[in-house]
Amino acid sequence: MYYFQNLAYILACLLMILSIRSLASPRTARFGNILGILGILFAIVAALSIQRFPSILFSLTAILLGAIVGIYSAFKVKLTSLPQMIAAFNCLGGLAAVCIALAEVLSSSPKLFDNTLGSIIGGLAFSGSVIAYVKLQGTIKSAPLHFRFQHLLNISLLLVVLILAGIFITTGLTDIFIILTVLVIILGALLVLPIGGADMPVVISLLNGYSGWAAAGIGLSLDSSILIIIGTIVGAGGTILAYIMIKAMNRSLLNILTGGFAANSKESPSSSVLSANSGSPQDAAFIMENAAKIIIVPGFGMAAAQAQHALKNMATILGNKYHADVKFAIHPVAGRMPGHMNVLLAEAGIDYQDVFELADINQEFSSTDVAYIIGANDITNPSAKTDASSPLFGMPILDVSQAKTVFFVKRSLGSGYSGVDNPLFYAPNTIMLYGDAKDITEQIVKFLEQ
Ligand code: NDP
Repeated sequence: MYYFQNLAYILACLLMILSIRSLASPRTARFGNILGILGILFAIVAALSIQRFPSILFSLTAILLGAIVGIYSAFKVKLTSLPQMIAAFNCLGGLAAVCIALAEVLSSSPKLFDNTLGSIIGGLAFSGSVIAYVKLQGTIKSAPLHFRFQHLLNISLLLVVLILAGIFITTGLTDIFIILTVLVIILGALLVLPIGGADMPVVISLLNGYSGWAAAGIGLSLDSSILIIIGTIVGAGGTILAYIMIKAMNRSLLNILTGGFAANSKESPSSSVLSANSGSPQDAAFIMENAAKIIIVPGFGMAAAQAQHALKNMATILGNKYHADVKFAIHPVAGRMPGHMNVLLAEAGIDYQDVFELADINQEFSSTDVAYIIGANDITNPSAKTDASSPLFGMPILDVSQAKTVFFVKRSLGSGYSGVDNPLFYAPNTIMLYGDAKDITEQIVKFLEQ
């Protein structure tokens, strides 16, 4: 029986690895998803195959409850709320690791080191994710929360946790383990509180990585090869994604963890003095009809307005009727989650070949007639290049200002996620198209059709 179980586990792991490989490209992502589902299915069946009554009943009940929550979330949660959902799931992963570690410690032959590892990483993932969730959901302010001696408190708490971990590993005292777990949970919350603004996606990825490492730690204590392998895949995936995002934002991990971003967000004084040009959808349609090359830059507002289908119509008409070369430019942190824009554009049926990453398209703006910025803001903000005091400073941006005409489709001159004013709104070649992203684009489509 164990032979077949191990075989099924190996198959599950292979499917999981192939799934991640396939998820790397939009073309193969659907297939990757199916491979992942099959992998999980193999793992569940293999795990259940050696269980007897009544434990199998508990497992099946837990699976049923989890499936209900999962299916409900899949249908109900909006794409714009996905970061919160990931935070909630990370939180459950961390909590599960803590519970298993505690159960193991209370058992007759606990593996002290492995359980300590599972509890520390799981506890950090659990409470850190709770804070990330309430910040992203807007239950508490997303801005970084600072107080006096914050770093000193965190470092002291970390030292106490490490000392208690050492004591527990050498003595095996359950009370010490419980105090250690409570302190780790407090530390996890304190570590995420000073982080905010645009750093939240990095934190979510890191916490996702933590929940994976916690599962791997628990896998060690339970002698479960599947938990070790899958936990390591999730842990490595989350950590690598966090690294990629840190690079994309030109930040350092230390800077993010100590909560520097957006702490000094402020409105640029220029906004009160300068005025921005504004235009109508009809003006935009006229200029685009006569443009040979157009680059569309989607951002969070496109997702909020669900404007991707209108955008697809606009691009199709511009290409077919007016023979314009239309491309889409995606910034790595556009929207509110990694790949946010790619998913929405793919949903609207926009060809992958027309969608370009920042590095592949940035040099093309100087030879572009129109940059159509729809619901995007921070990812185009030139102060990331020019203003060393800006919290965005150092983040690579899409060089939209190089285009002959720049349209910004948004409802106001308000700032984006980072809370920083965008000087590009006041540039002479910028025309603001005020309104809801979907509404404005649909109006442009109407004029283009006439
Ligand atoms: P921003 O948040 O910078 O700007 C979005 C703009 O969309 C706002 O200024 C808003 O302006 C406008 N907007 C909102 N709703 C609508 C609507 N219905 N119609 C038209 N416009 C609308 O988004 P970007 O995509 O440019 O940048 C992403 C930011 O989010 C970065 O700072 C990034 O670091 C951060 N972030 C990224 C995550 C990720 O993983 N990708 C996750 C979390 C944060 P107005 O109110 O005037 O309409």
